[in-house]
Order: sequence, then C-alpha cells, then structure tokens
Amino acid sequence: MCWVLPGKRKKDVKKAIQMVDLTTQYQQIQKEIDHAVLGVIRSGQYINGEAVGKLAAELAAYTGAKQVIPCGNGTDALRIAMTALDLQPGDEVIVPAFTYVAAVEAAALLRLAPVAVDVHPRTFNIDVNRIEEAISPKTKAIIPVHLFGQTADMEPLMRIARRHNLFVIEDNAQSIGSVYTFSDGTQKQAGTIGDIGILSFFPTKNLGCYGDGGALMTNDELLAKKLQMTTVHGQSQKYVHQIIGCNSRLDTLQAAVLQVKLTYLDDYIQFRRKLANRYDEGLKLRSDRFETPYCIPESDHVYNQYTLIVKENRDNLQLYLKEKGIPTTVYYPLPLHFQPAFKNKMRMGGDLSVSEKLCRSVLSLPMHTEADEEQTQYIIDQLIRYE
Ligand SMILES: *Cc1c(COP(=O)(O)O)cnc(C)c1O
Repeated sequence: MCWVLPGKRKKDVKKAIQMVDLTTQYQQIQKEIDHAVLGVIRSGQYINGEAVGKLAAELAAYTGAKQVIPCGNGTDALRIAMTALDLQPGDEVIVPAFTYVAAVEAAALLRLAPVAVDVHPRTFNIDVNRIEEAISPKTKAIIPVHLFGQTADMEPLMRIARRHNLFVIEDNAQSIGSVYTFSDGTQKQAGTIGDIGILSFFPTKNLGCYGDGGALMTNDELLAKKLQMTTVHGQSQKYVHQIIGCNSRLDTLQAAVLQVKLTYLDDYIQFRRKLANRYDEGLKLRSDRFETPYCIPESDHVYNQYTLIVKENRDNLQLYLKEKGIPTTVYYPLPLHFQPAFKNKMRMGGDLSVSEKLCRSVLSLPMHTEADEEQTQYIIDQLIRYE
C-alpha cells in the first residue's frame, strides 16, 4: 500500500495524532499555493478576480455540472438555492434528521417549514423509503445531504421528487467527487443530480480553502443566471437590481487556493480511501463491537469522515481513546429535532428513532490526507484492545 502522495513529504518530528492536519497538507503544496496567493495580492483583483471564473469552469469540468456559481460559503449556497427556486414562507422542505444544521437553518431563516425524515441506519443518509409518508400538500422540496462522503440513494429519491413535483437541492458540502451509478449504468457526481447542488469549501472539507467558501451547481441555464444574480445583490447589470439578492462572493484569494487544491483532489480522495480500507481491515476483527462504514452499491465513498457505529458505550470508548492520545469526534451528538433552536418547531415526518440512536452511537476517527501508517496502526491496535 502506498501511503505517500505525489510531491515531497518532509520526514517530520513525531507529532500528536490529529483529526485533520491542514498545516502539513499545506506544506506539501506550499510553493504552488504561495505563488497563487501572491499572484492575487499583486494583481489587486481581490473581488471577482480571474481565479474565481477560472475555478468555476474547472469545477464544472471536474463535477460534470453545466454551471457552477461560486459564493461565500455552503450555508449561503443553501439559502441562495431556496431563494432562487422561489420557495415561499410556509412551504415545507424535507431534510434528514441526522445531519449538520445548515439546511434547516437556511430554511427557517426564509420562514420555510423544515420537515425531518429519518435516515438509513447504515448509510446515515436520508431513508428514501420514509420520504413519501412525510410529504404533504405544502411540500415543495427535498434536501438530501450526502453525509460523510457518500451519495444518498438518488435514483429512487428523484423518482419520488418527480412523482410529487418537488425540487431537489443536494447538500453536497461533504461529498465532492462521490459518484452515483444509476440502474441504466449512467454515472453522475453527487450534487449534479437534482435541480441544484451546493458545495462548501470550509477548510476541513475534502476540497477546502483557507477560510470560507462555497458554490452552487446546476444544469439549468436559466436557474444558473438567477443563482448568479442572487449572489450579487440581484444585479442584472451594474446598479440594476432585478431580484432581491444578497452579497455572497468567493474571495479571489480563496479561489486561487482552490484552483491549486482541485488538481490534488483525486489524489486526496484516493488517500482517504486507502486509509478507510486500512481501518476497515483492521477493525473487522471486532465486528462484535464496531460497525465500519457501509456503502450502497450505487455510490462510492470519498470519506470526508470515517464514522463507526459503536454498539455499546460510545462515550466510554471516546474517553479511553482520548487517554491514549487519539482524538475522535461525534458527528452529530443531537438530531435536528432535539436541537434547542428547532425543538418543537419542525414537523417530524414519521418516526425518527434511527437518527436518535445514531447520535448516541456514532464516532468519527482521524481522517485526513496526512495520516501516517504508524499512527493509523496505533489507532487500530487501541480500538481492537478496548475491552
Ligand atoms: C460544512 C457543511 C455545510 C456548511 O458549509 P459552510 O461552508 O460551513 O457554510 C452545510 N452542510 C453540511 C452537511 C456541511 O457539512
């Protein structure tokens, strides 16, 4: 197994194990990044500079989306998507109950009504068999979240959306590059299947910049124009404001960073897969205690997170690992309908007990492109030894 990415890898002093290691990753590509960033600073084009348009084109080529519109961050992208689809106060949008808060928050700020649907117990993604029972006459959109690196089951989801005339906004903040295969053999990347897909370039995402960043993807030219206008104050030409928009731009500096990092994304994904395989193999011995990530045959996995289901006493295991110098994270400790801000404020689209149970049993292990073999083996050994 090759653990070394292309480029120089400095043999550094022994470091503590980290969940993610962004500084070492930067050191591997420092020359290119520094050159790109300095180029922007020297150009004086800090807003909407050349790199922004170029990155949009490169992202379109990479993902297969016809149009990519960069914006300020992934949460803005979700709000912009809902605005551009003309969703109105009171319209219901279906979201998974087990996920990051961004989609429901964006919906709630627009006075839409989020409806929580349970997730599949092994993929963590929205359970497509539970969507239809949650649909009401007010339902206007489904927002699947491709969680931890795997595409939700989009073929049946799109069938349901078409049958009920619903928009689909894919929250693809965590799964750029994940490929979904339809039953006729066509393959599409996560985020390019529904009406709109959103990306986040938050530093810890698989394609992360050095600050905030996001983008919207669509195959619909008219919608693309509207999305783009929304990111710049609804402006159709300078000082003519066609629609109500906002200010949500990707900095030229961040676009320049992302241009460099996009050229490494496939290598980064390969590395994450190797690390995930290593964990899978090592932890097989303890299938009595842990469930390793499960992938539906239709989707591959890009492992933004490597998330175990711990069958018993997750919190004790986390403490034990911490004592051994192994950081872990619980993504996510509360389902949306238990969050103080949303409790009793969102309709529950059926029973949500899978989401509730997952919040008590998931544990994400260190996963990043700078993991070394020795530390990974150490993590596996400690997990196997845990009594
Ligand atoms: C990170 C993330 C977002 C938000 O992205 P930001 O760029 O931080 O606003 C939205 N949804 C999911 C699932 C995320 O993981």
